[in-house]
Amino acid sequence: MPHQVTLIPGDGIGPEVTDAAVRAVAATGVAIDWQRTELTSDIIVASHNELPPHVIESIERTHLGLKGPVTTPIAGGYQSVNVALRKRLELFANIRPVRNLPGLHTRYSDVKIDLVIFRENTEDLYSGLEHEVVTDVVTSLKVITRLASFRIARNAFAYARTMGRKKVTAVHKANIMKLGDGLFLKCCREVAQEYPMIEYQERIVDNAAMQLVMRPEQFDVMLMPNLYGDIISDLAAGLVGGLGIVPGANIGDRCAVFEAVHGSAPDIAGKGLANPTAIMMSAAMMLDYLKEMEAATRLRGAIEEVYKEKRRLTPDVGGAASTTEFTDAVVEKLTAR
Ligand code: ATP
Repeated sequence: MPHQVTLIPGDGIGPEVTDAAVRAVAATGVAIDWQRTELTSDIIVASHNELPPHVIESIERTHLGLKGPVTTPIAGGYQSVNVALRKRLELFANIRPVRNLPGLHTRYSDVKIDLVIFRENTEDLYSGLEHEVVTDVVTSLKVITRLASFRIARNAFAYARTMGRKKVTAVHKANIMKLGDGLFLKCCREVAQEYPMIEYQERIVDNAAMQLVMRPEQFDVMLMPNLYGDIISDLAAGLVGGLGIVPGANIGDRCAVFEAVHGSAPDIAGKGLANPTAIMMSAAMMLDYLKEMEAATRLRGAIEEVYKEKRRLTPDVGGAASTTEFTDAVVEKLTAR
């Protein structure tokens, strides 16, 4: 029986990179029945709904999605689809593994970076609760709850134990937001006590950012509320070669949606320049989730081989190949085995 997966190509570079991921997954030999579901900024504007029912219905049926980016308007317009989807489906854990790719030259090529970000995905300053108290005075509510903080902390520690990771670092600003981030830390500390085999440490977010730049090798699992997770993810992506290569998973109790860290990259959309590595790596995480571990390992291996050869890489990582040429290279490696 093929696995049923909702495929949301999205917009911007989304359709190009998701097509590439579908080709790569097909080359692993795993049978997937892709339920293609269109969701673009044009559809959202036309339907006045950032989460049209056909998208939710599909994921609630398949319980699984592979998603390209959907453009979020800046300062006004509709709410972020990504945020709405994560809240609606209770995809509370955003998991982003960040590591060097073999052969890829970056400013940090000589440092072993292998960390995993656990970002709380449903609350914090993403509550969407903003209002103008009086003219020119706006408040944005940062919501932190025990339920959500516990859930993400449990998830991060359970992952660390299962994957043989050694250390969890909670990232916060509880020196300033004593109640909100204080509650988040309290939950992390309580969960840490259940895992005495895993080292637990805390870093204030500004220091964590500097430490990541100075000595990224010290980090293993990083655990944080939503907004810090967004910013630290892009920073960490920059250490290993940029947004083109870092994958992600949004996991809940009922459903999971896999997507790259990057956005719709309108500056390069439709030009054949987008790097599909991040979404292919997200598809590999999806295969792991489907217990197709052997196929997932082969897919990651094929991507790594193409990086080692250096000949057919996209421009963002120093090559001159198109999205299709890079994808052809990955597919060749998979089918040559
Ligand atoms: P969002 O807020 O929707 O997450 P963003 O503001 O972080 O989006 P992106 O769309 O991710 O912005 O793009 C940031 C930069 O990274 C752009 O210059 C873009 O071209 C580049 N970029 C993003 N993804 C890729 C990719 N897959 N391949 C090549 N370049 C990329």
